[in-house]
Amino acid sequence: MKNQLPFTKEDLETIIEKHPTPFHIYDETAIRKNARRLNAAFAWADFQEYFAVKATPTPRILQILKEEGFGADASSMAELVLAERCGILGEKIMFTSNNTPAYEFDKAIELGAIINLDDITHVPFLAEHCSFPELICFRYNPGPLRDGNAIIGKPEEAKYGLTREQLVDAYRMAKERGATRFGLHTMVISNELDATYFVETAKMLFTLVAELSAELGIRFEFVNLGGGIGVPMKPEEEEVNLETIGEGVREAYESHIAAKGLDPLAIFMECGRVITGPYGYLISRVIHEKNIYKNYIGVDASMANLMRPGMYGAYHHLSVAGKEDQPNDMQYDVAGSLCENNDKFTIDRPLPKIDIGDLVVIHDTGAHGHSMGFNYNGKLRSAELLLKEDGSVELIRRAETLDDLFATLDFS
Ligand SMILES: *Cc1c(COP(=O)(O)O)cnc(C)c1O
Repeated sequence: MKNQLPFTKEDLETIIEKHPTPFHIYDETAIRKNARRLNAAFAWADFQEYFAVKATPTPRILQILKEEGFGADASSMAELVLAERCGILGEKIMFTSNNTPAYEFDKAIELGAIINLDDITHVPFLAEHCSFPELICFRYNPGPLRDGNAIIGKPEEAKYGLTREQLVDAYRMAKERGATRFGLHTMVISNELDATYFVETAKMLFTLVAELSAELGIRFEFVNLGGGIGVPMKPEEEEVNLETIGEGVREAYESHIAAKGLDPLAIFMECGRVITGPYGYLISRVIHEKNIYKNYIGVDASMANLMRPGMYGAYHHLSVAGKEDQPNDMQYDVAGSLCENNDKFTIDRPLPKIDIGDLVVIHDTGAHGHSMGFNYNGKLRSAELLLKEDGSVELIRRAETLDDLFATLDFS
């Protein structure tokens, strides 16, 4: 499956005539199909996906997802303004931030976004520095009640959210400051491939909604199950069945919400990775080969274009364009040019024989790929391209130039 690409080597060479490597390219057809699949899995519910903007903060992508009915999950000023400028407004924005400065709360309130508070102290903070909204949500951190996973860590070690005890006081304090509409949020896992986790998360929130409604005498409008649905990075991994999650959550809704007269309760999610991750590719040209104690292939992309392998040791599948069907009888470290030895896309990876001039396709870069880019060593962030439904290619973010990089410098 992993070697099935939405373009051939010849397609890439044609694209490169106009758009030099390296670049990320996103598959619009696949993104739309997947977005519709998520909506269909929750068609039984009053459902809203808020795309986590940080995953792919590129206007054209946000607009495509908006057309599919998605809102935006923003966590910073830039992400709020991006949503605004893409025409995603009001309660189509979920502002899930932490350690938030007052000016960001102000902007979120100005846009009419749903405010999701990360701490109990943010209730007086918001009341003092901004205005207190009618609709308020809190992020729950279940602590030792739930296992986490590698990226987010154990909930009790994670900096996010309120404890179970704090939640009661937090909603009460919000009510005292004029809140009349309420939601509940959690996000405890990241890049998780087991569908049962998400059903368990829903059950946990549904149970909490029942308890808090009774304790506080308030009615909840929605729960937000967070993001964290994983994508299969390795060829042997299987994708999460979104229909299994939708059906599992529906059953839990029936028993935990509808049967207790707590409906209607809207179901929100704020996934990033699973929405765009598998549908983006980083394309890079092989410029050097070097054989010392190991075999190195030098490409014109670097960790500045895709940080995940260097930062988390994340596996990203790599295909050599036009050699998809050749045996993996060589072993390479495919490296970028940063002065950092973790600037490698693969380590000891079995791959077909690679030649200078080959094009490598690094998979699953559609989320947390370009957006995590940085400028260390003065490396410029690449362009982003969209492979459109009609097969044409659109430049949706130009590559940075040295002038961009030097724009903040003073040479006088
Ligand atoms: C990063 C993040 C998301 C999206 O996570 P994915 O793993 O990309 O689905 C959603 N909500 C919050 C609060 C986040 O920090």
